[in-house]
Amino acid sequence: TPTHADNDTIAAIATAPGAGGVGVVRVSGPRAAAIAATLLGREPEPRHAHLASFREDDGALIDRGLLLHFPAPHSYTGEDVLELQGHGSRVLLDLLLRRVCALGARLARPGEFTERAFLNGKLDLAQAEAVADLIAARSESGARAALRSLEGVFSERVQMLLEALIALRVHVEAAIDFPEEEIDFLADPAIAEQMREVRAQLDRLLTEARRGVRLNDGLSVAIIGRPNVGKSSLLNALAGAERAIVTDIAGTTRDVLRESLDLDGSHIELLDTAGLRDSDDPVEREGVRRAREHLSRADLALLVTDEAHAVSDQALFAGLPERAVRVVVVNKIDRDGREPRHEERTDAHWLWLSARSGDGLDGLRRLLRRQAGSDIEGAFSARRRHVLALEAVAAHLAAADETLSSTRAGELVAEELRQAQRALSEITGDYHADDLLGAIFGSFCIGK
Ligand code: GDP
Ligand code: ZN
Repeated sequence: TPTHADNDTIAAIATAPGAGGVGVVRVSGPRAAAIAATLLGREPEPRHAHLASFREDDGALIDRGLLLHFPAPHSYTGEDVLELQGHGSRVLLDLLLRRVCALGARLARPGEFTERAFLNGKLDLAQAEAVADLIAARSESGARAALRSLEGVFSERVQMLLEALIALRVHVEAAIDFPEEEIDFLADPAIAEQMREVRAQLDRLLTEARRGVRLNDGLSVAIIGRPNVGKSSLLNALAGAERAIVTDIAGTTRDVLRESLDLDGSHIELLDTAGLRDSDDPVEREGVRRAREHLSRADLALLVTDEAHAVSDQALFAGLPERAVRVVVVNKIDRDGREPRHEERTDAHWLWLSARSGDGLDGLRRLLRRQAGSDIEGAFSARRRHVLALEAVAAHLAAADETLSSTRAGELVAEELRQAQRALSEITGDYHADDLLGAIFGSFCIGK
């Protein structure tokens, strides 16, 4: 079995703090079975719900509840696991936990059960992270996406890319092993083609991983525009509450206002930025500074403007990251009785609406929902760490490709590919040089 014999036994209350119908104490480690036998008064059957009286050493009753024993390795952690389900009382659960610790367990650190599951190969690192993301999910689509990652959808995609990358390395490394053939070998168009395919596969995964981060953290939307165009009104209309201050005095929105929005199951973080204009008022200047900082991290910017300034105001998109989606909102259409409209232009989505009357808001909600990724079938959750790792892979592959097509220096290409593989392996948490060696020897005909 993969269990670590030197591990001690850990215990914790697994249910949320506060009163509840049922409370669970979870135990994992080599002493779990003995603790179970002591509390039950006999050997428990594996994976059976036993009705038990949990008692102190002197026989005093703590609680009556269910006792379940999951022998290693068929448990969440891969170790012997014991679950004690009692009444959901903090006092009783504390007593029960203390009793379990008196019988040889110690208090678990945060995440230690899942950490053991990872160490015992029950989950890879991306899946272990998805456990935490699932528990913390703030929207339905976020929870569904995290569950898919926990089920291994993201990890499988990483694994597929890893295999393609290893196959490419096998080709390149083989060329190095036969130096007299190296030049010809690396010039093989099949290698260039293989490189193109791996990079395309990576690009797709990167796009999906970025969306996965948005599903996890929520879509970060910055509302920008000159003072008085209706930014706060739009924020309020979307949030459905009078949260931001709406006035007729230019420059009222002095700080960055944040609104968390659940838009039909999508999580959206709206930021109303102060009008991005220079000012002598230090408070307003601080607002502008923060607004620019938020802008640099936004996934999407809503530029609120009017017909006359719609083109010139696009200068305010400056400072947005390149990947951010740009939306031009021509507000206040109620003033001249125009109809709401939606146009896809080259660099931005254009929407005509009225924050006051609500005309055209549905179109904006639809757009936000789509950008949040919740409309996409089969989307999985991801973290910034994963995106950074994939970006590192992309950089190494770009360098390898460049070297391949210019100098054909086999050693350099191989080194970049090796680094790319390592970066990729960081996502799932396993980097094994042996894998590569095995792939080289296993798939290559040395007689060639
Ligand atoms: P901000 O400075 O960009 O945040 O603008 P506000 O949301 O504070 O709005 C400035 C003024 O424009 C207020 O008097 C709003 O009531 C008004 N306003 C905002 N949206 C609309 C709209 O769609 N139609 C009309 N007629 N007035 C609007
Ligand atoms: Zn405002």
